[in-house]
Amino acid sequence: MSETIFSKIINKEIPATIVYETDTVLAFKDINPVAPVHILVIPKKEIKNVNSLTGDDKDILSNMFEAVKIIVEEQGIKESGYRLVINNGKDALQSVEHLHIHIIGGKELKWPPC
Ligand code: AMP
Repeated sequence: MSETIFSKIINKEIPATIVYETDTVLAFKDINPVAPVHILVIPKKEIKNVNSLTGDDKDILSNMFEAVKIIVEEQGIKESGYRLVINNGKDALQSVEHLHIHIIGGKELKWPPC
């Protein structure tokens, strides 16, 4: 898999505002936020998107959602609500080919998104 901008963030080659980090997961503020809280949760393992997941990635997925729970509490949006988004592939406008969960919140969001 080719290196993405997120690999560079994982390797600390470019800066990001990191809000959570473990051996397997990293979370940082989106550079172009669409809401008061907009954080990306990514696996440190290079996984292109949901289609690329295998049974070996179960722990990573669990760790990503554990990260979400901790972050929404820290960001104060656990009770007010938030949206989790995974853009997957071309039609979904996935722009970075490294699996990521958007955590979006801090205001009342609109629906539908398209
Ligand atoms: P997606 O369109 O779902 O692939 O989302 C990619 C997200 O990565 C977008 O919301 C971008 O704003 C965000 N992004 C791209 N480069 C950076 C960066 N260097 N630091 C933080 N967020 C970034």
